[in-house]
Amino acid sequence: MHRDQDVVIVGAGPTGLLLAGDLAERGIACTVLERRAEPPDTTTTRAFAVHARTLEQLDARGLADRLLATGTTVDALRLYGKVALSFAQLPSRFPFLLVTPQFNVERVLEERAVAAGARVLRGVCVAGLSQDAEGVSVRVRPEAQAAPESVFRAEYAVGTDGVHSTVREALGLPYPGRPVVRSLVLADVRFAKPPQDVLTVGAVGDAFAFVAPFGDGWYRTFCWNRDRQLPPGAPLELAEIREVLERAFGTDFGLAEARWLSRFQSDERQVPEYRVGRVFLAGDAAHCHTPAGGQGMNTGLQDAANLGWKLAAALRGRAADPERLLDSYNAERHPVGRQVLRSSGALVRLALVKPLAVRAARDVLSAAALRVRPIANRAIGTVSGIGIEYGRAHGAHPAAGTRVGDVQLADGRLYERLRDGRFVLISRSAPSGGEARLVEDRKADVAFAVCADAAHALTLVRPDGYVAWACDETDPVSRAAQAGEALTEWCGIV
Ligand SMILES: Cc1cc2nc3c(=O)[nH]c(=O)nc-3n(C[C@H](O)[C@H](O)[C@H](O)COP(=O)(O)OP(=O)(O)OC[C@H]3O[C@@H](n4cnc5c(N)ncnc54)[C@H](O)[C@@H]3O)c2cc1C
Repeated sequence: MHRDQDVVIVGAGPTGLLLAGDLAERGIACTVLERRAEPPDTTTTRAFAVHARTLEQLDARGLADRLLATGTTVDALRLYGKVALSFAQLPSRFPFLLVTPQFNVERVLEERAVAAGARVLRGVCVAGLSQDAEGVSVRVRPEAQAAPESVFRAEYAVGTDGVHSTVREALGLPYPGRPVVRSLVLADVRFAKPPQDVLTVGAVGDAFAFVAPFGDGWYRTFCWNRDRQLPPGAPLELAEIREVLERAFGTDFGLAEARWLSRFQSDERQVPEYRVGRVFLAGDAAHCHTPAGGQGMNTGLQDAANLGWKLAAALRGRAADPERLLDSYNAERHPVGRQVLRSSGALVRLALVKPLAVRAARDVLSAAALRVRPIANRAIGTVSGIGIEYGRAHGAHPAAGTRVGDVQLADGRLYERLRDGRFVLISRSAPSGGEARLVEDRKADVAFAVCADAAHALTLVRPDGYVAWACDETDPVSRAAQAGEALTEWCGIV
């Protein structure tokens, strides 16, 4: 029995690794159990798109610039026909999409987690788990040597073990949903005459193809051919990719070689609950959908960013009501997962629609809709994650639950200030006497910052960059009293 951790995380994909780093940096002892013996192979990658909100979350951990150096940025996402979503107007430091292979994201996150003290154990396969009033017992079996089962005991466990999650199964949770696209072909290839556009989408008749550069001479292509619907394991040759490219674009761009070819089926599924007692689910273990819009990994990373500080607060006794705070993970992230399923499903269904007349109407209507600024903002906000906000409690300030952009503070940027994992209390002016005392008492949990342009007299920003509480009170005594109550609610009693 291994007892020396507060949290066991099952699965060292991007979701589990971000969570491990967030917990370890807050002094929480956590162990990540990963079935694969080696880190991911750098010739195969599933995700390749990192959206603006994820880059903001990485910026709040001091990792965005490192990741940006590994890829290529793209300022618009072609959807179908001539319809494109432009990222250029995004109110973010990152008004673009970063194209970089998933293994770069995992490498950056794993290095940070390990440096902060997280243990990542590879070649360890989780077989099941059980929970009781005091904790969770996670049963593992080293995969390589048929060694006897051992048990990791922790206060909490998180299943970030992907689509075929053992943790979800052990909880007895269903994964309802359905297949959306069959026989989608993925190929990472080189071209002799690569396309000029950065993201290239082509659809002619019943063939659909998408091409994106990794920036190192290799290109990711997705191909779909309505006339060739085969099961996932069916053999796949370069000729099949060539045929779809030629039909969709009128050229195969001089298709030369492939380092990875895969035929797969894409499902749309979501677990009904992200929390069962002491066990949580995040990332693909909780939701999955088609690659359209490139949102899977991004959504998982944001699940982790939402859960990490809450788990740490519950474990360190820094929440007035730890159970309510932990429940808020499901309350906030489940609706986001549902919304992502809907938007990615709509994108793929529109892209693959069959009748010619409907396709023509789709292109005209979508292009017209995206010329209406609020519709375009909403669409781009959903895909990039910038538009995501969380519900607020009855009677809360209207700003509660909304994303806070990277505002300029009197002494630096907000997302630099968030890097030590604390809340940030932003004031429009220097603190009053009462506020100064609060800040002094709370400095382990809360950083204080002045921003003359702040939208509210006081704004309490959560460690994940959303508004916890705000107030427009002008009387300094009453304002300090209200702030004291808010800090007690969010950070516990000092
Ligand atoms: C073709 C394709 C293209 C995609 N493109 C994009 C994109 O551009 N952008 C995007 O955001 N998303 C994209 N996605 C989705 C993205 O890859 C996933 O959403 C992402 O990998 C989910 O991360 P995760 O950490 O939740 O799970 P995973 O990455 O699946 O990691 C789960 C980990 O758990 C481990 N594990 C599983 N079972 C056990 C066990 N019993 N014991 C121990 N360890 C276990 C696995 O080995 C794995 O390392 C794409 C997906 C596909 C298929």
